Amino acid sequence: MLKLIKNGEVYAPNYLGKRDILITGDKVGYISDKIDKPESFPQMEVIDAEGKIVVPGFIDSHVHICGGGGEGGFKTRTPEIQLTDITKAGVTTVIGCLGTDGTTRNMKNLLAKARGLEEEGISTYIYTGSYEIPVKTITGSIRDDIILIDKIIGVGEIALSDHRSSQPTVEDLAKVGAEARVGGILSGKAGVVNVHMGDGQDMLRLLEEVVWKTEIPIGQFYLTHMNRNRELFKEAIKYGKEGGLVDFTTSTTGRFLEDGELKCSTALRIMLDNGVEINNITFTSDGQGSLPNFDERGQFVGLQLGRVASLYREVRDAVKNEGIDMSQAIRVITSNPADILKLNQKGYIKEGKDADIVLLNQDDLEIDTVMAMGKIMVLKGEVKVKGTFEK
Ligand code: ZN
Repeated sequence: MLKLIKNGEVYAPNYLGKRDILITGDKVGYISDKIDKPESFPQMEVIDAEGKIVVPGFIDSHVHICGGGGEGGFKTRTPEIQLTDITKAGVTTVIGCLGTDGTTRNMKNLLAKARGLEEEGISTYIYTGSYEIPVKTITGSIRDDIILIDKIIGVGEIALSDHRSSQPTVEDLAKVGAEARVGGILSGKAGVVNVHMGDGQDMLRLLEEVVWKTEIPIGQFYLTHMNRNRELFKEAIKYGKEGGLVDFTTSTTGRFLEDGELKCSTALRIMLDNGVEINNITFTSDGQGSLPNFDERGQFVGLQLGRVASLYREVRDAVKNEGIDMSQAIRVITSNPADILKLNQKGYIKEGKDADIVLLNQDDLEIDTVMAMGKIMVLKGEVKVKGTFEK
């Protein structure tokens, strides 16, 4: 029931200095300069965090948890994610989504997988829908899904400016935004539209028209893959400065980077240099999604699998290679997604919040220990809790 994390340098994400943290059940109970284990508490587990940095558990808000892909035929459908693919990466909260394939993948499957991962110990939410409009929901409407189904916090990923999108019109997109907005308002959820941006020439044109023509605020749309090429990245800077929510995808391949994709850590540095508010920026892994390669004629030429493990690696690179302070860099995978997605118990180390905590080595910034809902999932690099079918 009681755990004490002692002597760690705490970034909550604000830097708090050296603090002891008392975990009571699945919550952060008490944070103080010094807390000692009383003699009469034999069942209190003490975790020595000397030489460690203590940060909130990571939130990965774009993961194809029940698989995705399929762009190269049925055998390229990606497998379901396993618990330790997530926990070893320091991630304690995931938001699951479907992708290109809304036919052989469906929302019931996604919801069941999210529930399964939660039973295994982490926190999960999902977006309703896939790339396409009209959106295939569980209840028959986006709004009802958000209001009635606890795990559904928004809609997406809706594909725009992509050869795999359903080629929606401005009106199509506005209607999706409206449904999500009202669903969010009535349920106290974020109700965001997670938008997959493709390589198409149109870039943000459709979206800007919706924001310009309707009363739907810019923050209703949460744009992902904004680092996928240089032109789109320029738009990301502009959009971020206007108050838009910009997400960068950490899963990549050597080929993508050669073709002009921008590494997330570098993208973050440039955004901050250009005066974009850090609160408007997040990273997600696109984990378990396929990373398909298409040639100039749109022919599929091969694919790789996205990894949740890439998420924190980019934050680490932002600190180590780009000189961004940990108290800032760590926000893009902790407090920022928590605030944007209204996950009120997540994203901060604070009394009363969920006990989702990661310990990093101070020297090499590698992940050492991962706690989800007060339970130790990984201890000193060793997996303590495995998924149901993991050996
Ligand atoms: Zn996508």
